[in-house]
Amino acid sequence: MSAKIKVGGVETFSTVDFPEHMAAVVFLQGCPWRCPFCHNTSLQPVNVETDFVWEKFLDFLEKRRGILDAVVFSGGEPLVQNSLGDAIDDVKSMGYKVALHTGGYRPEALAGVLPRLDWVGLDIKAPLTAEAYRKSTGGYDKVDNIRQSLSVLLESGVDFECRTTCDPRVLDLRDIYAIADSLKETGVKTYRLQRYRQVEGDATPDSECEKFFADKALERYLRESFPDFAFRS
Ligand code: SF4
Repeated sequence: MSAKIKVGGVETFSTVDFPEHMAAVVFLQGCPWRCPFCHNTSLQPVNVETDFVWEKFLDFLEKRRGILDAVVFSGGEPLVQNSLGDAIDDVKSMGYKVALHTGGYRPEALAGVLPRLDWVGLDIKAPLTAEAYRKSTGGYDKVDNIRQSLSVLLESGVDFECRTTCDPRVLDLRDIYAIADSLKETGVKTYRLQRYRQVEGDATPDSECEKFFADKALERYLRESFPDFAFRS
């Protein structure tokens, strides 16, 4: 029997969402975060019906065997859906590798699905303090959950990256240093700084958006802090 998972959208081919894999991406409906840089606000409501049918996606995967090799569960925030494990089982049983994008919202849910995952992209949205997280997520401040998700990941041995989207309206250079220090301390090896793509109506000058990428001292620090660091556009 297939999973009762609520899908908000699908990307049928991606080479950037799961490094070194050709993947389909499933955007799960529902998101508790309120990132100010969100371009997918339609994915935020949890209790809405969507037009996407999970079984149709499985049919699509059936036809893509040998062309695609992986499925990425993205969001929204996939960990809000209780059927995530069943959906992972569905695609695993077809021979696909599975990746997850998450903000680490529910560490216990992450721990439950981790043994079935091949890779995780963990969003670190701000320095790991309640105040900073509140500012970067529209109110979420349970940073203990983020720390626990990080611990669970590190203990699991599953390959993962941490990444931060550099929205200059809520983060500054000092915040990136603070995030890097926390991650480095826990033993994170892979870190990505992601470019902020301006949302509609935002008049922040380009120079502000670019400052994270233009700062040579920050780049040096991040390269020294992580064996695998890169910018991501
Ligand atoms: S995690 Fe942030 S960017 Fe992604 S859907 Fe939720 S609010 Fe939008």
